[in-house]
Amino acid sequence: MLKPEDVVEAALRGLSRHDAEALMREADIFTLAQAAHAISQKFYGDVVTFVNNIVVNYGNVCVAKCPICAFYRLPGSPDAYVRKPEEVAAAVRQAVEQRGVTELHINGGFNPFLTPEYFDQLFSAVKKAAPRVVIKGPTMAEVDYYAKLWRMSWREVLSRWKDAGLDAISGGGAEIFAEEVRKVVAPHKISGEEWIRIAEVAHELGIPSNATMLYGHVEEDRHVVDHIFRVKELQEKTGRVLLFIPVKYNPQNTELYKRGLVKGHAPATYDVKVVAISRLILLDRLKVAAYWLSVGKKLASTLLLAGANDLVGTMYNEAVLRSAGAPYSATPEELAAIAREAGKRPAERDTFHRIIRYI
Ligand code: SF4
Repeated sequence: MLKPEDVVEAALRGLSRHDAEALMREADIFTLAQAAHAISQKFYGDVVTFVNNIVVNYGNVCVAKCPICAFYRLPGSPDAYVRKPEEVAAAVRQAVEQRGVTELHINGGFNPFLTPEYFDQLFSAVKKAAPRVVIKGPTMAEVDYYAKLWRMSWREVLSRWKDAGLDAISGGGAEIFAEEVRKVVAPHKISGEEWIRIAEVAHELGIPSNATMLYGHVEEDRHVVDHIFRVKELQEKTGRVLLFIPVKYNPQNTELYKRGLVKGHAPATYDVKVVAISRLILLDRLKVAAYWLSVGKKLASTLLLAGANDLVGTMYNEAVLRSAGAPYSATPEELAAIAREAGKRPAERDTFHRIIRYI
């Protein structure tokens, strides 16, 4: 029987895709978790970080119609909205004053009525209202959509957003890179290759990004492994990925669930496996998140003993997950408690992973 020490040794030598798939298939979760935890401790120690951030959606209008999404509304829907730049700026200022947030996480969708000027005003209004807040903005998929809509290149869109105040890119839209999965879960989004190429352009321009992976729908182990390897390769090439965030799919209110392609939530054992294999592949290249918003606070604590070492953020106002029925924000103290439950040392960080304070 495979022992955790054997897995650690194999991981430190460097797993191949084939090795990683075999581990997901054959090793029990305790062995994987123990090995991943040992590696996380070796490279990162016992500190678990998170950012104090506010999440604002600039709008919920989206024409991508992803079958995994419960958030979007089509143009003209009675509950469709687009937030005014001043409204977003006021919410951010309030969050700074009342909650001490250091980051705005802002996403929307593919809204065919938004102009480049809207985003100029949006980012600059936030910077004016809260100059010290880092703006972590639209996903690679949004970059591509607006580039096509405005007949610009990815580089032009990103440069313009950077000039207006964008500091980093959120990691969404990555889903699972493999085409056969993508065409089921996000048929109208960019390909996995395009996501990576846009990330490379952003990184070249000095705009770092997170990278996510949406798991627990129709993917298989080999797709998960392939996705993590591609993130690792991106990081080895640019060094500008800030955090790897495995996001558990929440099927409630989504098309994929209604069509019967997904029967329910993936089991917690699978969450452990996904996080553990992420650490075993990524080693010291990247922090791995226990995304409490998608797995719940209790399981997040367990994932910190399975290779994860970041809790993403406080995420005040998480409308995307709230519309699918998930709990949607936490205080720094609550996140610190999740870390302590796992015997870890909690610390608030900024977007770029500099420690602000130990809690
Ligand atoms: S996941 Fe994003 S791109 Fe897809 S429908 Fe939802 S908001 Fe639009």
